[in-house]
Amino acid sequence: MTVTRKRFDDDPYLDHCSATVLAVSDAGIELDETICYARSGGQAGDTATLTLEDGRTVTIADTVYADDRARILHVPAEGTELPRVGERVTVTIDWERRHRLMRLHTCLHLLGSLIPVPVTGCGISPDSARIDFDLPESTLDKAVLTEQLNALIRANTAIRITLITPQELAAQPELVRTIGAAPPAGTSSIRIVEIPGVDRQPCGGTHVANTSEIGAVVVTKIEKKSRTNRRVVVNFA
Ligand SMILES: [Zn+2]
Repeated sequence: MTVTRKRFDDDPYLDHCSATVLAVSDAGIELDETICYARSGGQAGDTATLTLEDGRTVTIADTVYADDRARILHVPAEGTELPRVGERVTVTIDWERRHRLMRLHTCLHLLGSLIPVPVTGCGISPDSARIDFDLPESTLDKAVLTEQLNALIRANTAIRITLITPQELAAQPELVRTIGAAPPAGTSSIRIVEIPGVDRQPCGGTHVANTSEIGAVVVTKIEKKSRTNRRVVVNFA
């Protein structure tokens, strides 16, 4: 089985890389390696530009996983030119957009630490992020959460990434915050994202290196989605 090499796992700050086109189909362009994060875990897929050796460019409107969850597909924008199999390309990510996703994604880890109940889902777009909590009674307050979140951001804490085996994770089920979240089948190592003193959980998303990089945020909404579900929405201030 082909597995796309995910350069963002080792370095989420890479903004370009070289790659070879392995396949081109209606579903998307497959490369041997990529810096583009494929939509998953609530985080939006990246947008990017592929530059061919003759200077032509291919606009990538989204990045998704193939059904096998092993191959990453770069979805071309409508009407854009397509590369040929075997061509070398330079992948240049829409960095400002990705960095906003990294900042908001990391912010959700902080928000999750402030509300210690099971998480039922989350969503991260470049402009706002939401997290759903299994919480029947809500005493949550937007102003209080905003103040607590910004204090955690200003604490200037470095984020630590470590790897553990699926067996080690199975021995520590308390680490998993999101109900029903499971790593892709066949995964040999699982990334543990730790914000020391605040949060520690398995996560495959992209994060900033330090909480201060998130910048000021504001909790804009606390919604009742169902009898047991509270949604908290956060935006950049
Ligand atoms: Zn994460």
